[in-house]
Amino acid sequence: MPSLFDGASARIEAALEYIDISDDIAQQLAQPDTALKVSVPLRHDDGEMKLYPGYRVRYDTTLGPAKGGIRFHPDVNADEVSTLAFWMTMKCAVLGLPFGGGKGGIAIDPKRLSPAEMERLSRAYVDKIADFIGPDSDIPAPDVNTNPRVMGWMMDQYRIINRAEVRDVITGKPVEMGGSEGRTTATGDGAFHTLQTMMARWDRDAEGTTVAVQGFGNAGQQFARLCADAGYTVVAVSDSGGGIYDENGLDIDAVAKAKQSDGSVTAADGEQISNDDLIALKVDVLAPAALENVITEDNVANVQAGVIVEIANGPVASEADATLIDNDVQVLPDILANAGGVTVSYFEWVQNRQAWYWDADTVAERLEKRMVDATERVAERAESLEIDYRTAAYVIALEKLENAAQARGTSS
Ligand code: GLU
Repeated sequence: MPSLFDGASARIEAALEYIDISDDIAQQLAQPDTALKVSVPLRHDDGEMKLYPGYRVRYDTTLGPAKGGIRFHPDVNADEVSTLAFWMTMKCAVLGLPFGGGKGGIAIDPKRLSPAEMERLSRAYVDKIADFIGPDSDIPAPDVNTNPRVMGWMMDQYRIINRAEVRDVITGKPVEMGGSEGRTTATGDGAFHTLQTMMARWDRDAEGTTVAVQGFGNAGQQFARLCADAGYTVVAVSDSGGGIYDENGLDIDAVAKAKQSDGSVTAADGEQISNDDLIALKVDVLAPAALENVITEDNVANVQAGVIVEIANGPVASEADATLIDNDVQVLPDILANAGGVTVSYFEWVQNRQAWYWDADTVAERLEKRMVDATERVAERAESLEIDYRTAAYVIALEKLENAAQARGTSS
């Protein structure tokens, strides 16, 4: 089996057919700049102490300090963290943000932890990585299974270590601790702006367009809600417990309530389906919003959707790319479609540095403009080169990195 990173590199290879980059930057992008592996001690509530593997990777810093989230998940490993940090590098470049790419994580199942254990784990992780991160070197944020609360504990631990409040060291914080308005919904909002921008370019309407969303976390839920409000018919959603389907459209608020009270969307009204069934539904838009590699060589032939919006990072394995292209499935790639989160993280970092906070409307307006502009740039490049959107996004990212590397000179 190829590693996750091998798959990620295949996308660079595909883009290199359309753009020349220097050997220097090509070499630099072939592996992470710096990778830290730590053992994170957690004293469990029953008194037992256990060590969990933790990681933080700075993939590339050509465009600025490394930026990217922290994931708590049992499957976290060095290959996954590096690959996610690589995607952050590309994502920040596509959006034109002044950041490189980074990522972190702990291999642990947070669903088994009490709130007090979560807090101790978050603080212990920062104890281990505090010398590695910083507002001008590497700025963490939330990712899968981490949230504003976790970011708040982490920033507080950084304050204790440094004996100073350093708000711009981490983004996605609670608003009360210097977080930005609109950060929580930003990934779903951004994915929706990308879809809407493309729908207008394709001259298609929300009315009569069906949507299925795989993953009902922070991003998937917000995207589903915005689609339903805009007149799309959201026929299916799922989470790790399974999915539900209603051909007339689901009531997203009712589904969210059911998930909150019973832990899974499957508690809401609708026909029960599996995650595999959802991927194979005959819908117009399929939005994988959970983890990587849900559409692979093995199930890509089942995909009947005309459009895939990649809200997760890496939901389509690179070996599935050719089949999707052959079948005329339009993929709006992760490094564009899920960039709303890091874009509002950038806004948060700017606000922290200026100690001058924007209202929710200002954040929303600026996010929309960034997402629409980036989507238009990718679409135009895809049209002019007659290539798919993913390859076009990689061409734009590589061009940006190449130009910045040239401007920087040869000292590195
Ligand atoms: N974890 C998010 C992502 O994968 C956000 C990263 C950030 O805000 O820095 O894009």
